[in-house]
Amino acid sequence: MKLAARVGQVKPSLTLAITAKAKAMAADGLDVCSFSAGEPDFPTPAHAIAAAQRALDEGKTRYGPVAGEPALRSAIAAKLARDNGVNWAAENVIVTNGGKHSLYGLMMAVIEGGDEVIIPAPYWVSYPDMVTLAGGTPVIVETTAATGYKITPAQLEAAITPRTKLLVLNSPSNPTGKVYTPDEVRAIAQVVLRHDLWVVSDEIYEKILYDGAQHLSIAAVSPELQQRTLISNGFAKAYSMTGWRVGYLAGPVEIINAVAKIQGHATSNVCTFAQYGAIAALTEPQDCVETMRQAFAERRGVMLERIRAIAGLTCTEPEGAFYLFPEIEALGIGSMEFCERFLEEHQVAIIPGIAFGSDRNVRLSYATGMDTILKGMDRLEKFVASLEKSPQTCQ
Ligand SMILES: *Cc1c(COP(=O)(O)O)cnc(C)c1O
Repeated sequence: MKLAARVGQVKPSLTLAITAKAKAMAADGLDVCSFSAGEPDFPTPAHAIAAAQRALDEGKTRYGPVAGEPALRSAIAAKLARDNGVNWAAENVIVTNGGKHSLYGLMMAVIEGGDEVIIPAPYWVSYPDMVTLAGGTPVIVETTAATGYKITPAQLEAAITPRTKLLVLNSPSNPTGKVYTPDEVRAIAQVVLRHDLWVVSDEIYEKILYDGAQHLSIAAVSPELQQRTLISNGFAKAYSMTGWRVGYLAGPVEIINAVAKIQGHATSNVCTFAQYGAIAALTEPQDCVETMRQAFAERRGVMLERIRAIAGLTCTEPEGAFYLFPEIEALGIGSMEFCERFLEEHQVAIIPGIAFGSDRNVRLSYATGMDTILKGMDRLEKFVASLEKSPQTCQ
């Protein structure tokens, strides 16, 4: 059968492909170190699991409202007020099949042919492809280590055209780990207001911050900003609930209703008993979040020090999330070749920066045990040293 043209317009997710290849090599008996997966390596907190089990026992196994269980929508609204200073009611929240699906639902609801969506690079893999699938045009704005891989107000201003509809902000960022300071968020907000743009703010890593970094949601800057911001978030990263597939989108009610209309034809509701696990995650004690954050902080320190000690690599310090994004440009090879050879020759899986719109970098996740980190860093030292000696790098 002839496939729809849109299939050819998007690329498969490189992150998922490399993770799969590393798993296959491990299944073949190879000693693989994987830094590729974008998910915490901790179990889901026991109270979330217990709440989902209780929901199953209570027969919460049927279809539910498309926009989510009322109790979860209310718990999310309370969380937005408590943690973010954003006052939305339950009707301003839709529960989706993960943060990824909330972004997809939003693009399908608001983007059409001719619409431009500004995406700062390095970006999370799926943003441009989601815009393309919705028929819009991703406008990629490159950033560098010099600005902490953050878009400046001047860069944003220069990228705006009469067709610009939406800006995608992701702070803390996957892949760079960088966090917009409150002042930087306010400066971006001014440009957004002046040009009458909308923003989608992907805040999935808001709880994973280091060294006193602060998360300010752009929706909290002013009531005007709140009216033109969609907050996308979920339970996967903060609560180690990646497989549960629960996320949400919060914003003006006409947009939430439009996303719900589409979701009603696409997936109906999110798994009912999974939503009860999410309620427990939000409403029960939050120390599990802090325990994971501290483990990430320790690993970040070790890995950053080791990477910075390797001649030929430079790396900015991440302020959030759980990724390092070193620059490999000085080695004279592209990120794809770097990652393919590292996996083949040293059995270490990392993600080429090209997947995030930057061929100068590679991404390493430190959501993995300290043993793997130490072994992987030994191998990285050897690999980079071999590249510096090898004539193949002079092509
Ligand atoms: C992991 C991630 C998401 C969403 O993940 P879900 O599992 O769909 O909730 C969204 N944005 C970024 C930047 C991510 O890294």
